[in-house]
Amino acid sequence: MMPRSSLLVRHIHTLAPMDGRHTVLHGASLYCADGEIRQVIASGGKLPKADRVIRGDHAVAIPGLVNTHHHLYQTLTRAYGPAADAELFDWLRVLYPIWARLDEDAVHAAALAGMAELLFSGCTTTTDHHYVFPRGHGNLLDVEIEAARRIGIRFHPTRGSMSVGQSQGGLPPDSVVESEDRILEECERAIGKHHDPAPGAMLRIALAPCSPFSVSPRLMRASAELARRHGVRLHTHLAETRDEERYCLEHFGKRPLDLLEDAGWLAADAWLAHGIYFNRSEIARLGRAGVGIAHCPTSNMRLGSGCAPVLALRRAGCPVGLGVDGGASNDSSHMLAEARQALLLQRLRHGAAALGVRDALRMATVEGARCLGRDDIGTIEPGKRADIALFDLRGLSYSGAGDAVSALLLCAPERVDTLVIDGRVVVEGGELQTIRLEPLIARHRRLAAKLVVTDL
Ligand SMILES: [Zn+2]
Repeated sequence: MMPRSSLLVRHIHTLAPMDGRHTVLHGASLYCADGEIRQVIASGGKLPKADRVIRGDHAVAIPGLVNTHHHLYQTLTRAYGPAADAELFDWLRVLYPIWARLDEDAVHAAALAGMAELLFSGCTTTTDHHYVFPRGHGNLLDVEIEAARRIGIRFHPTRGSMSVGQSQGGLPPDSVVESEDRILEECERAIGKHHDPAPGAMLRIALAPCSPFSVSPRLMRASAELARRHGVRLHTHLAETRDEERYCLEHFGKRPLDLLEDAGWLAADAWLAHGIYFNRSEIARLGRAGVGIAHCPTSNMRLGSGCAPVLALRRAGCPVGLGVDGGASNDSSHMLAEARQALLLQRLRHGAAALGVRDALRMATVEGARCLGRDDIGTIEPGKRADIALFDLRGLSYSGAGDAVSALLLCAPERVDTLVIDGRVVVEGGELQTIRLEPLIARHRRLAAKLVVTDL
């Protein structure tokens, strides 16, 4: 049967499919049809005809990067002076009242801006953890989903939530929390309206109560029950700081992971952001359960939170993906830079041999995909979705580089040259093909200035 659309990426200089065998191909071509990779053709092989042909002889190609933790709305409050040098709890206390003013227009522009940055960094799939829903400010989840469709990124938004405000002993002000009944209703509505369980899906919903210091154990348990009724995944922040650990011991008499297990979350359908403060037996329990971890090295260093036990978590059996975590605690959305940070941070702690460049790239691709419950993305192989990132080797950053794959992380983080998502060319020649960038920057800047006083 003739495909509806086809794409040939021809004669790729260096192709790293991340297929688990450390394969590297030179001069290979990729034939994609109807959004799927159909053939990997070795150098010299006969090339099929395609509707669209892209040259790859100047580029290194890898699977599109997978971002497993983010808060896109925070791009509006990045590098905010009063929060610039704070640790997590103080950083949150400064920013919550500003985020209480978010509306649909702001969230839409923030999502587009963060997604554009992700695309430029070679990212083809992202999640988003949106948990601020001020009453009467519109439907903030729906507008970010509209932004993802418009820009063309594969999207796993989570319906986040906060239900325990300061008056109940929580950290956030009461102005940014919702009732638990409303949260659960909205979660169910979001799943019914948007979730696509089919293979190759461009959009899947997950449920994401925010953190132990902003939701109740009851909401954690109810979210897990609701997620399992509908076959969607679960996400939350856990073991990010010592302050969080102290909060859990003081308020619940339990360590964060025990709280999580009591709520029914210690299972392979959950993935956790950060996972820094786990002890040895907790790491073994997480590994046995197959819980995913979104490692966010830049945010962890920026807020001085700590260094996650990435090697031990991977050895225990946890899929460990990478997350750029938050426009306001990174303060960027560059996935290649995040993989570089992950590599450097583990090497600082454990030595240069402890984590290879290809291991860091596996976390940024196939292990991230596992965190999101996907086996149809994260590698370049026949039958997988056509999510491919090509970086131009001809620029100054890579001049003199001996190994193209190592150059991706050891040299300065580059901007993607060509990005294919589900067979569609979304970035070409370093330019976004789906939206115009300059008007977006002007709009994003204007809406940020409405929220906070900026110098820019
Ligand atoms: Zn986060």
